[in-house]
Amino acid sequence: MSSSASSVVNGGISFWYVDDGLPAVREPLPGDATADVVIVGGGYTGLWTAYYLKKAAPFLRITVLEQKFCGYGASGRNGGWLYNGIAGRDRYAKLHGKEAAVRLQQAMNDTVDEVIAVAGAEGIDADLHKGGVLEVATTPAQLARLRAFHAHELSYGEKDRELYGARETAERIRVADAVGSAWTPHGARLNPVKLVKGLAATVEALGVVIHEMTPVTEIRPKHAVTPYGTVRAPYVLRCTEGFTASLKGQKRTWLPMNSSMIATEPLTEAQWAAIGWAGRETLGDMAHAYMYAQRTADGRIALGGRGVPYRFGSRTDNDGRTQRATVEALRDILVRFFPSLAGVAVTHAWSGVLGVPRDWCATVTLDRATGLGWAGGYVGSGVATTNLAARTLRDLVQQDSGQAGRTELTELPWVGHKVRKWEPEPFRWLGVHGMYATYHTADHRERLHPATESSRLAKAADRVAGRH
Ligand SMILES: Cc1cc2nc3c(=O)[nH]c(=O)nc-3n(C[C@H](O)[C@H](O)[C@H](O)COP(=O)(O)OP(=O)(O)OC[C@H]3O[C@@H](n4cnc5c(N)ncnc54)[C@H](O)[C@@H]3O)c2cc1C
Repeated sequence: MSSSASSVVNGGISFWYVDDGLPAVREPLPGDATADVVIVGGGYTGLWTAYYLKKAAPFLRITVLEQKFCGYGASGRNGGWLYNGIAGRDRYAKLHGKEAAVRLQQAMNDTVDEVIAVAGAEGIDADLHKGGVLEVATTPAQLARLRAFHAHELSYGEKDRELYGARETAERIRVADAVGSAWTPHGARLNPVKLVKGLAATVEALGVVIHEMTPVTEIRPKHAVTPYGTVRAPYVLRCTEGFTASLKGQKRTWLPMNSSMIATEPLTEAQWAAIGWAGRETLGDMAHAYMYAQRTADGRIALGGRGVPYRFGSRTDNDGRTQRATVEALRDILVRFFPSLAGVAVTHAWSGVLGVPRDWCATVTLDRATGLGWAGGYVGSGVATTNLAARTLRDLVQQDSGQAGRTELTELPWVGHKVRKWEPEPFRWLGVHGMYATYHTADHRERLHPATESSRLAKAADRVAGRH
C-alpha cells in the first residue's frame, strides 16, 4: 500500500470540499421573522424546494434556515450518483399496486434528466456526465442476484436496461473477477458540492433568504424555533434527513446511517487505459454491503461503502472524519476491483449520514391541518430523489394554498406515507450493527464458497431490519 493511513486527508467535510473550497458562510438569523414558507435544512431537498416554489410563485417570501452551511450534510459528501433509484419502490408496489410504483419509477427516470436540464439552464457546472449506471457481479451468487434484479427492473417498464456477460463488461470496465453486469442509461456522474453550491447561489439570486449557522431546535405548526429567534410561517418544511434526530420530538423518526468514501490520487493515462471506464458510468456491485464509485472529472476514483454503519444514540459526526479501519476496508475493495491500482495513493476519506426510516421507504408529506411538511428517508438514493421530492412539496404547498390542484406528482404513492418509529436504544444500535455484520459475513461466504444461491443469512437480516 503506497499511502499510509496517516497521509490521507480524513474529514474536511468531504474530498469535494477539500478540492473545491469551503463556502463563505451566510449571516445567521438576526432575530424573530416571518415568511410564507420556512424551510429547515439547506441540502438538496431544502434548496430544490426553495427553487421550485420561488419559480412557481415569485411573490412567496421563502426563508431557508441551515444549522451550518448549505451542503454541510450528505448533499456535500455523496458519491455523485445522480440516478433513478428510489428507496421503497417495491413496498409502494405492494401497498398501492404495481401501476402506481411504475409511475413512481417513471418520475424518477425523468428526474435524472430534470436535474441535468435545470443545472444547464441555471449555469451550474457540476461536472455532469450521463454515462448511465453499471452494476457488476463478481461472484456466482452476485450474478444470480444481478439477473433477478435485471428481470425485476424490466417489470417496472425499464425496457432500456441491458445485461452484459463477462466479456462485454470488460469492454466497458475491467473489474477483476467480474462475471457480468447490468446497465441502465438513467444515471449520471456529478460533483455533489458544485451542485449544492450552485443551487444555493441560484435560489439566493431568485430572492430566497438563506440564514446559515442557524440551528432549528424545534419545529411546531407555523414556527421554526432557533436560539436567535423564531421564524413564523404558514408552512414549515423539514428537510433535515440524517440530522432529523436532533430536532425535538424526532429522535426515533429516521435513523442516521453512516456512509463513508475514499478518493484516490488522479490516475495516469496508462492506469486508466488498463481499467477502461471510458463511459464514466457510475459503478456499483451486487454485494449485500454494496460499494459505489465514480470516475471523477479530474481523473480520480471516488469509492464508497458502509463502514461503521451507525453511532449509538443517533449521534452524527462533525467534520466528516471516518474510522481508519473503514478507510482500509474501502481501499481493499478498490484493490480487489482493480488489482493494477495496488500502488495508487488514497488521498482523501470522509463520511456522512443518510436518513433511514423504519421501513426503508422515502416519503414526502404535507400535513394540511398544521402546514408542516417534510421529505426524506432516501436511504442511499437521494441525489435525484430530492429533486422529485422538492417538486412534489411545491405542488402540495400550491394545492393546499389554493394556487393549484392535484398534479401527477401529488398522486405518486410515496406522498403522505406513514411509518412507525425506530426502537429505543440499545435495540436500534444492536439491530443495525447486527444487520451489517451479517451482510459482511454473507458477502465473505459468497466469495469463499461460490454458490449461486444468495446467502440465507443476508435474507434473514433483511427481514429483521424491515427492508423486505
Ligand atoms: C457518503 C454518502 C454518499 C452518498 N452517495 C449517494 C449517491 O451517490 N447517490 C445518491 O443518490 N445518494 C447518495 N447519498 C445520499 C444523498 O446524498 C442524500 O440522500 C441527499 O443528499 C439528501 O439531501 P437532503 O437535503 O435531504 O439532506 P442533507 O444533504 O443531509 O441536508 C440536510 C441539511 O439540513 C441541515 N440541518 C439538519 N438539521 C438541522 C436543524 N435542526 N436546523 C437547521 N439545519 C439543519 C444540515 O446541516 C444539512 O445541511 C449519499 C450519502 C452519503 C452520506
